[in-house]
Amino acid sequence: MKLAILDRDGTLNQWGAQGFIGHPGDWVAVPGAMEAVARLNRAGWHVVIATNQPGLGRGLFDVLELNAVHAKMHRELAAMGARVDAVFYCPHAPDEGCRCRKPGPALFEQIAERYGVEGRSIWAIGSGVEHLQAGSTLGAHLVFAGSDASGAVPVQLPAGAVCYPDLNAVVCDLLPLGGDGKALS
Ligand SMILES: [Zn+2]
Repeated sequence: MKLAILDRDGTLNQWGAQGFIGHPGDWVAVPGAMEAVARLNRAGWHVVIATNQPGLGRGLFDVLELNAVHAKMHRELAAMGARVDAVFYCPHAPDEGCRCRKPGPALFEQIAERYGVEGRSIWAIGSGVEHLQAGSTLGAHLVFAGSDASGAVPVQLPAGAVCYPDLNAVVCDLLPLGGDGKALS
């Protein structure tokens, strides 16, 4: 099974101006990202999102607003013939000390369990270093795509991570070899 676990902010949608996205109107796709997911789907990949949403724990927005944001995302994906199977999110603020806030491993563990796949057969693709760190705890393939919230590529990426300018560039490199990832490893 081909399973890609994507970061949300900075990978599928542009970073929110305030550091979070609590309203559907603030959700703006990264150019080419919806099409990139569609290409993954057509090549037989399952695509799942793992995202930290500390704005919930801080009370900046609520679950209904988050659901509305994701409804818009799913609509925009569908309009391009793309599908994200599920969105796994950490709702906690950083000071709550949970295991699911990336770089903690719990979101990735839940996804691996749900799909019955080994960590090493997962592709973790994201624009936050903590997304790759979480994937690294399960032995996933690590791909940095884009830039972090400050617009930079983090200096301290986990060992073995490869870098691309955006999700579309990742998919262009990944798919020609049938999605087995040989181009990237
Ligand atoms: Zn959490």
